[in-house]
Amino acid sequence: PAMGGINGTALEGLREGLRGPVITAHDPGYDEVRALYNAMIDRRPAAIAQCVDVADVRTVIAAARDTGVELAVRGGGHSGPGLCMVDDALVLDLSTMRGVRVDPAAMTAQVAGGAQLGDLDHATHTFGLAVPTGIISMTGVGGLTLGGGHGHLTRRYGLTIDSLASADVVLADGTFLTATEDEHPDLLWALRGGGGNFGVVTSFTFRLHPVDTVGVAATVWPVDRTPEVLRWYREFLPAAPQDLNGFFTLFTIPPGPPFPESIHGQKMCGVIWCYTGDLTDDSMERALAPVTEPAPPAFHFATPMPYPALQGMFDELIPKGYQWYWRGDFFDAVSDAAIDVHHKYGENLPSDLSLMHLYPVDGAAHQVGTEDTAWAYRDAVWSAVIAGVDPDPANAEAIKQWSVDYWTDLHPYSMGGSYINFIGEGESTDRVRATYRGHYDRLAAVKHTYDPDNFFHANQNIPPATG
Ligand code: FAD
Repeated sequence: PAMGGINGTALEGLREGLRGPVITAHDPGYDEVRALYNAMIDRRPAAIAQCVDVADVRTVIAAARDTGVELAVRGGGHSGPGLCMVDDALVLDLSTMRGVRVDPAAMTAQVAGGAQLGDLDHATHTFGLAVPTGIISMTGVGGLTLGGGHGHLTRRYGLTIDSLASADVVLADGTFLTATEDEHPDLLWALRGGGGNFGVVTSFTFRLHPVDTVGVAATVWPVDRTPEVLRWYREFLPAAPQDLNGFFTLFTIPPGPPFPESIHGQKMCGVIWCYTGDLTDDSMERALAPVTEPAPPAFHFATPMPYPALQGMFDELIPKGYQWYWRGDFFDAVSDAAIDVHHKYGENLPSDLSLMHLYPVDGAAHQVGTEDTAWAYRDAVWSAVIAGVDPDPANAEAIKQWSVDYWTDLHPYSMGGSYINFIGEGESTDRVRATYRGHYDRLAAVKHTYDPDNFFHANQNIPPATG
């Protein structure tokens, strides 16, 4: 039978041509494979084609082209607005392509397009090496890297794209090529932050860095101390050594270790630290000594940890299937007026899992030139995300409203644009322009070169330049 825009014959042809399974609403498992990390998004594609290799990817692209059915590309399935899943579309699913090959001598890793951060960390850690990525191990390497990628190692080793050496890409017309700094450098430039606009990345090659055991610390204060803590943090963090990363957070203490029971369930402000310096001396302790300056912390802990353990530390708290609504903005300063906004919404977190994070994007990320990658905010110090999160769909509207209100009040004090991966569902296309600032026209020109028909448009779309 026909499914959405794909007729039975085309579907049969696709199934014959593919080594991986093609799943439609008639198949058991359909609901499982279309389910996204963010359960607020519920979409019913015509078919999901699970690719095992580049040949499968090319076959799926050809099928979409030949039938005229809309194509969506799924990496880790973690996008907030659920960009990878579209009603009635053919979904090219990379989540079955997760292999990682590490070359410890060359200090590089080749990572399949559907791998998760945890797959990458697991493969590199055995050699005491790592790529700087994000802070939740189930997130897709694909979407995160193509957007830029920031996390615990940003201040030390830069954005994820700053370690991206090359990428294997299948283009809209089925062409396979490898984008490097010498071959198709315009494409590599665009892939470093320009999102899924240019083709399907079947493999990323990253440069690796020596990261083994890191120092992990958390300092928290009662949320009514937000003004003092933020006034301190906005000075302390940018001046701190690059070995010290620390993202500021407004959150509710989860009911488990390392937090003592006496503070479980309390709203707090705090900083999560990652130290990549020497752990055999007292340098971390000295770097963190000033945390008592703004106010006595309600809790402070510090411990060495294998890097992948840090990367998986928050996973259990936020399993797949919760309701999420988030928005973001870049900041080069935290003004007093912005602090009042943070304080107000921190006191009124709408659920135990809702949060605001200020992720540092300075340090090593500032040592790469603005023109070197598509990332247009090398002058930003923080990438903020405001995320309403709750397991219960009945609270979806409330957490969304809190995020939108908070964002609306905070936005005037921002630099104007957001990290592309923090744009929320339903935000206007102007937000994509604001993300890319002066790089927008150059990206549209690269899009015209590699995808002139805007075949890849289930993403934060950059339409091709005309002519
Ligand atoms: P998907 O929904 O699969 O894809 C997102 C977009 O990328 C889609 O348009 C898709 O078509 C495209 N895409 C994905 N893979 C490919 C590929 N191989 N080739 C071509 N296009 C592709 N970001 C950070 O930088 N740092 C963080 O610490 C961080 N933490 C997060 C924590 C959580 C719990 C969540 C849900 C998200 C977090 N993010 C973080 C944001 C994250 O980077 C984005 O949600 C990103 O889109 C996830 O990529 P994905 O592959 O999982 O998503």
